[in-house]
Amino acid sequence: MNYQLDHEDIRNGIARLCAQFTGEYWRRCDRDRAYPTEFVAALTEGGFLGALIPEQYGGSGLPMSAAAAILEEIHRSGGNAGACHAQMYTMGTVLRHGSEAQKQQYLPGIADGSLRLQAFGVTEPSSGTDTTALRTAARRDGDRYIVNGQKLWTSRAEHSDLMLLLCRTTPREQVNKKTDGLSVLLVDMREARGSTLTVRPIRTMMNHATTEVFFDDMPVPAANLIGEEGNGFRYILSGMNAERILIAAECVGDAKWFIGKAAGYARERQVFGRAIGQNQGVQFPIARAYADMRAAELMLREAIRLYEQGENPGEEANLAKMLAADAAWAAGEACLQTHGGFGFAEEYDVERKYRETRLYQVAPISTNLILSYVAEHVLGLPRSY
Ligand SMILES: Cc1cc2nc3c(=O)[nH]c(=O)nc-3n(C[C@H](O)[C@H](O)[C@H](O)COP(=O)(O)OP(=O)(O)OC[C@H]3O[C@@H](n4cnc5c(N)ncnc54)[C@H](O)[C@@H]3O)c2cc1C
Repeated sequence: MNYQLDHEDIRNGIARLCAQFTGEYWRRCDRDRAYPTEFVAALTEGGFLGALIPEQYGGSGLPMSAAAAILEEIHRSGGNAGACHAQMYTMGTVLRHGSEAQKQQYLPGIADGSLRLQAFGVTEPSSGTDTTALRTAARRDGDRYIVNGQKLWTSRAEHSDLMLLLCRTTPREQVNKKTDGLSVLLVDMREARGSTLTVRPIRTMMNHATTEVFFDDMPVPAANLIGEEGNGFRYILSGMNAERILIAAECVGDAKWFIGKAAGYARERQVFGRAIGQNQGVQFPIARAYADMRAAELMLREAIRLYEQGENPGEEANLAKMLAADAAWAAGEACLQTHGGFGFAEEYDVERKYRETRLYQVAPISTNLILSYVAEHVLGLPRSY
């Protein structure tokens, strides 16, 4: 895997940084379900998490391709950016739809890491895929909103100062379209935590720092409304392509890690007096995984190219996310199988990465919903839900 890649300097910088965080580091975090604080601090100090924030607000003002290169390299190195990737892109909603005053107030702190905007509260117990069925409600009360409800799978809420919250400001029965009446609030969790805001960690099959969050008459200043009241769903949707592109980059990174690890092991492991990689039964799944990864990577590049031209590449961003998640999963399968029994041992890191990459079949959007998007919006088939 030595073909020409973009942003070579950034990739080399990330590779050097990641070399300090070995498999042993990630295994320890995984075993203890601990937040990779040191890794996130190193990325923050290196300025990588402020990549997409324009220079006028203290960020590096880099293009999407650079952010994708950063996340891909983290995953290619065997690490996982899930602990902090949201710091890169959640701010996009504020950048695109926030007022100038909000941008001045929040973006410089997010860029230098002194303010963590890592929590994104959309999913609820009864509304995952069906986002507009969400029930968390914000009622206007003078110069503030009062929020009540619950979010589920709010990742990194324990490691975030701010949360971007999607909630209902007009009941579903009172709007013409179910996508209307939803609003985005920027919640300062530091003030509310422990009183009107309760955060409970959820243990998952991989180390992901995810939580459930309860709002109990939580006050939020009306000044923290992003954009116009009732238009929040559109604001959240407008950030989805960026998120899908960046998650696809992580999946391409995972696939590269699995392929490199599998090929390396297949060259070394001797069975019946020869390398197992000499058997085509072992070679072909790895070679196929490589082909799948390259195809996904091409679609990812196309999505990035269109995004950087200022287009809204819904089709390409969705396809890139799905193909890259599938490529990573297939590569994980090939890698685990190549390792035989050793693939199940913690010290090889294969089983950890295998658990980690499985998430992308479901979150942030499930494969079925991408197929449904393609069927409806690309192929013109009738809406199924
Ligand atoms: C570790 C983790 C971290 C997460 N982090 C966040 C976060 O930070 N913020 C946040 O807001 N959310 C987060 N999520 C939530 C994630 O976005 C949802 O889990 C995802 O959108 C699916 O929703 P659901 O779990 O409610 O599944 P459901 O909506 O209950 O769906 C269950 C299954 O049915 C399928 N399905 C449902 N409807 C249809 C249909 N019409 N056609 C075909 N198939 C269908 C789905 O594809 C899925 O496979 C996270 C989830 C996990 C597991």
